[in-house]
Amino acid sequence: MILILLGPPGAGKGTQAQRLQDKHGLIQLSTGDMLRAAVAAGTEIGLEAKKVMDRGELVSDEIMTGIISDRLDQPDCKNGVILDGFPRTEAQAAALDEMLAAKGLVLDAVIEMKTDDDILVERITGRYTCATCGTGYHDIFLKPAVEGVCDKCGGTEFKRRSDDNADTVVSRLKAYHDQTAPLLPYYQGKGVLKQVDGMADIDVVTQEMEAALQSI
Ligand code: ADP
Ligand code: ADP
Ligand code: ZN
Repeated sequence: MILILLGPPGAGKGTQAQRLQDKHGLIQLSTGDMLRAAVAAGTEIGLEAKKVMDRGELVSDEIMTGIISDRLDQPDCKNGVILDGFPRTEAQAAALDEMLAAKGLVLDAVIEMKTDDDILVERITGRYTCATCGTGYHDIFLKPAVEGVCDKCGGTEFKRRSDDNADTVVSRLKAYHDQTAPLLPYYQGKGVLKQVDGMADIDVVTQEMEAALQSI
């Protein structure tokens, strides 16, 4: 199965992708995580991407398409993937169509996580993740059961993203509306678009995601 999660920064794509990965054995392909790994490793792509990400702008379509195409060829993707953060432009969507056709794969569904812009700053500025296993948390909306201890792996170190600040959110939201939102009518036209209410509580969103998957 090939699923795309579409929504603005902070909509809940990563949170729900982690849950779908755990429950259904699909692999979460987060292009943001891949870029942050490249930045941390100091690769050429990472050095290039860091400047762009810190401005809240989008990394080039060529780089992103190459990263995803290579990743889809890895054996662990055989059982299906959740694309989290890709495609983000019309050019990336067109490239994805081509690459799926060339690899003999089919896009099953695109799930839009609908959210109001005015809640996203609070979502993003409160976001943090376990430094050991990457599980996502929120200062208010999703705390670990025991403060300071990751529910999943017991880790006690957490990290925050350098681009998760109120200034960058404005550019990231603009990039979403200008460059990514046009993908919604594109996928609607292909008959693969489904919607969930991204404003609901996290567990309710998860139930809606499950219902959307059942309908495929
Ligand atoms: P995205 O991957 O779309 O940028 P995340 O999944 O990282 O978004 O979610 C952003 C932040 O908001 C995280 O800290 C997450 O714990 C929290 N969050 C996700 N979904 C919800 C929700 N439905 N209600 C409240 N907070 C949420
Ligand atoms: P969020 O879900 O909070 O917007 P991501 O982790 O998906 O954050 O992305 C972080 C940053 O990485 C983006 O602001 C952008 O600079 C870059 N990025 C991630 N995916 C893509 C993509 N498909 N195309 C271009 N840039 C991307
Ligand atoms: Zn952990």
